[in-house]
Amino acid sequence: MADKTYTKKVIQLCLAHMGGKEQKFIAEAIESNWVTSLGPNVDCFEKLIEDFLSCSDIETGKDKTIKTLAVASGTAALHLALILLGVKKDDEVLCQSWTFAASVNPVIYQGARPVFIDSEESTWNLDPVLLEETIVHRISKTGRKPKAIIAVDLYGMPAKWDEINAIASKYDIPVLEDSAEAMGSQYKGRYCGTLGTLGVFSFNGNKMITTGAGGALICHDEKTRDKALYFATQARGPRAYYHHEDVGYNYRMSNISGAIGQGQMETLQIHIDHHRKLHDIYSEAFSDSSLIQVKDNPTGDFNSNFWLTTVLFDDSLTIDDVDRTREQLQKNGIMARPLWKPMHEQPVFKIYKSYMNGTSSRLWAKGLCLPSGPCVSVDDALMIADLIKDTITRGKR
Ligand SMILES: *Cc1c(COP(=O)(O)O)cnc(C)c1O
Repeated sequence: MADKTYTKKVIQLCLAHMGGKEQKFIAEAIESNWVTSLGPNVDCFEKLIEDFLSCSDIETGKDKTIKTLAVASGTAALHLALILLGVKKDDEVLCQSWTFAASVNPVIYQGARPVFIDSEESTWNLDPVLLEETIVHRISKTGRKPKAIIAVDLYGMPAKWDEINAIASKYDIPVLEDSAEAMGSQYKGRYCGTLGTLGVFSFNGNKMITTGAGGALICHDEKTRDKALYFATQARGPRAYYHHEDVGYNYRMSNISGAIGQGQMETLQIHIDHHRKLHDIYSEAFSDSSLIQVKDNPTGDFNSNFWLTTVLFDDSLTIDDVDRTREQLQKNGIMARPLWKPMHEQPVFKIYKSYMNGTSSRLWAKGLCLPSGPCVSVDDALMIADLIKDTITRGKR
């Protein structure tokens, strides 16, 4: 049988896409000479995010307590969050191992030590059972409580927030929600980013919306946001002259980026809907294959934005089959990627303690992230699924 011929255009893993209004807001910023960090476009972008997130509390109506600080990157937001949570040199921070390195690097910036915890299978996020065991074990070993918990909503899938928050409050340890990939995802009707003590979004070019580069810190009161702003703007004291009592950072978002963000907020819901639609298309396309399993919401409590649709290969297939499939896609201009390699397996983090149940080590090499987002069409997704099934069956013959 002749090989099927597939399109040669390049399909990237995930690119945010411009909604149309960005140029207008950028032009406004330039005309008004607001080309600096801070500015009215950043203020407006922050209000739009607050409006979006505060609609999520379906039982109690609008949550007016949510406060947003737009910053230079998701990583900067994570770093500011750790500073606000009081993470200092030699503290221990419990951190989901199955994530992108940016979740952990700020722990090292603070001179603190990450302690890695494995994921559970239904969400691929922080395992609450292991979390509690780790807390108990660390307290017995060191005589001190871990300073913070970092839980991630990986690939947009909400973590088991009720369980995680219950344990966090039992031991009185704050939780940082790394929601960099999960803007628009919901857990029991509430938006990711608002579920921990502090939350973080990323607006890097491959995330749900983009400001070129950028991020946001989500706080639950104005005072906390003010303190984050202080550290993000060189920790300048409230005096006429330059007075500093703390080490600060230059982490504020530029007003031009804020203008792009303003435009992006008009298409956020369209982006979310399209990510979810592609997940539906992939799920349907693989429903006749016993060899490929599309990662889905575990129950109705979880409503992922499906930032990336991810698939697992059946146990009858090898890691070589996964690699071969990815290479075949690449030959056809389709940029699928391996899943995140867990942090406890990374050479740079090997020296830190880890509490594992085997989930992330077992699964990461058996899966792929498929092209997702507004630049991938329904036809693209159907073609990609077709090519994957083709490659696998050919390998089996
Ligand atoms: C992208 C990402 C970050 C970092 O965001 P940047 O804006 O790129 O700094 C942090 N955590 C996770 C899980 C991410 O995917």
